[in-house]
Amino acid sequence: MTNPLLSDWDTPFQLAPFDRISDADFAPAFEEALKAHSAEIKAIAESDETPSFANTIEAMEAAGGALDKVLSVFFSVAGADSNPEREALQREFSPKLAAHFSAISSNKALFRRIAHVWEHRDAADLSDEQARVLMLSHRGFVRSGAALDGADGERMTAIMGRLAELGTGFTQNLLADEREWFMELEEGDLEGLPGFVVDAARAAGEEKGVAGPVVTLSRSIITPFLQFSPRRDLREKAFAAWAARGANGGETDNRDIAAEILALREERAKLLGYGSFADYKLETEMAKTPGAVRDLLMAVWAPAKAQAEADAAVLTEMMHADGVNGDLEAWDWRYYAEKRRKAEHDLDEAALKPYLQLERMIEASFACANRLFGLEFTPLDVPLYHPDCRAWEVTRNGAHVAVFIGDYFARGSKRSGAWCSAMRGQAKFPEVQAPVVINVCNFAKGDPALLSYDDARTLFHEFGHALHQMLSNVTYESVSGTSVARDFVELPSQLYEHWLEVPEVLAEFATHADTGEAMPEAILQKVLGAANFDMGFQTVEYVASALVDLAFHEGAAPADPMAKQAEVLEGIGLPKAIIMRHATPHFAHVFSGDGYSSGYYSYMWSEVMDADAFEAFEEAGSAFDGETARALEANILSTGGSVEADELYRRFRGRLPGVEALLKGRGLAA
Ligand SMILES: [Zn+2]
Repeated sequence: MTNPLLSDWDTPFQLAPFDRISDADFAPAFEEALKAHSAEIKAIAESDETPSFANTIEAMEAAGGALDKVLSVFFSVAGADSNPEREALQREFSPKLAAHFSAISSNKALFRRIAHVWEHRDAADLSDEQARVLMLSHRGFVRSGAALDGADGERMTAIMGRLAELGTGFTQNLLADEREWFMELEEGDLEGLPGFVVDAARAAGEEKGVAGPVVTLSRSIITPFLQFSPRRDLREKAFAAWAARGANGGETDNRDIAAEILALREERAKLLGYGSFADYKLETEMAKTPGAVRDLLMAVWAPAKAQAEADAAVLTEMMHADGVNGDLEAWDWRYYAEKRRKAEHDLDEAALKPYLQLERMIEASFACANRLFGLEFTPLDVPLYHPDCRAWEVTRNGAHVAVFIGDYFARGSKRSGAWCSAMRGQAKFPEVQAPVVINVCNFAKGDPALLSYDDARTLFHEFGHALHQMLSNVTYESVSGTSVARDFVELPSQLYEHWLEVPEVLAEFATHADTGEAMPEAILQKVLGAANFDMGFQTVEYVASALVDLAFHEGAAPADPMAKQAEVLEGIGLPKAIIMRHATPHFAHVFSGDGYSSGYYSYMWSEVMDADAFEAFEEAGSAFDGETARALEANILSTGGSVEADELYRRFRGRLPGVEALLKGRGLAA
């Protein structure tokens, strides 16, 4: 019998035949698909035909079909419905996959053919999308070091090996420091702490083997402790330990590791021909240059700092009224901010919840997509990997567009968080393939299932990613859907969150589970008001971290990162009672790997765009303005990575985004 993962899927919409696949099928299918892909790559690399777009770039696009099928099924179930067997398979597959793809990107014969096609591109009569796919492929190989020979190539291999080691060491030291420290509490020290913090502190004490409750550096304990504990002395002690993670001296100190990582990154960038690591990293992003990133961050800095200073004055007053004299310190901020929040925006989550039924919120996300893009959703009865999964056929004017799968409920076998992935990406080459897209969330089950406001936002966020996949309309899968720059990929998702806040959407879909009544205006206003609370503080701690990250990677690597950090913070005048969201010795985004190195700005970059993009609808007079929706689909949702991100944005909006809408959205506009 053939392995169901490798057979032709003659199911409705060629969905994976989940009812026929068993865990025992994964390993043999994986091995066979890996071998098949290697053979396809070998044939392309060793061909004796003159290299052309068709026999090299298109051939690579067409290769690996079996591997795509096996991995799309495997990673879906491994992430959303795991078991010990699937976990073991994942441990087995991960290093094999890493080795497989690194063998391809360091294949010299293959790179020579790609370089040949690249050098002869002007005579090749390529379409714009073909030229783009060729550029991306060539650039990807160059960036991974495929063009380096001899000593340079060996040095690059050594650098990459050492960087991987250092990144792992950085993470482990941080975990060790977080694990090691705890502070025992007397029963009387629990005063003022909400029940969930007391429970967590008691459970942590048991875990540490001490008799009473303890504060640990786990975010779920330390943050609420700083927020709720009236004991200033204990807050100060806990805060000091929190701020010192990775900088406690001895074996787990991360400061020398950070310096070595920065030096090696600079050397790596120079070997590849870039002026700095930031130049290397930003080349593939919408921002493109360190200057563009700095301009954004500094445009936000001044208003955020002004707001934070005004808030600090209010909090200082509150502290003095409490009988505590002197300056507001970093361990006081969260405590007095929480008191202020309670006084100004007490939002009763329990009163809000009955208005946010999962079913109604799914309907709302579909209804908005219908009004904006004409999409229709019809439930599908097909076998999926878990009984909680649901599927819909997505059509427009009767024509098939995609299959959408929703897997909404939390369960022990699912990893935490929420995500969107394409079980099949959109493409027209080598044949037309319609997307199969899944949203996975971790909402609590119930009858009816009710969401928090954050949950409802998550639902819309992930559905925005799903639209980016489902409305994709390109030729090559490597540039379809969400295959875009990192600082562009959150635009469709964060943008879609705005429709949840459109009053007519809430009026129609946020109806009470028992009475069917629409959400009262007073609750809605509280929800919207609370969203911007303490935004000066949040923006300042974030931007300070992003500016330090940028300074580390721009120009020569600092021999002493801590001195550099101090210099940057001094230069921008960080308010006294606020520290960086992530100080260097525990800045895992930047040092645990290089995913977000000189890329920490990108969260805010996306927010600038989503705020500015939604304003296009407001300027047109309606959140459902047809012409603006068509422009959004034509220029952003259907184009994937087939065009540079800044060009796509310019086509949609007629200009690049400004920060004004973001400042307004965060309540920081003058
Ligand atoms: Zn997202």
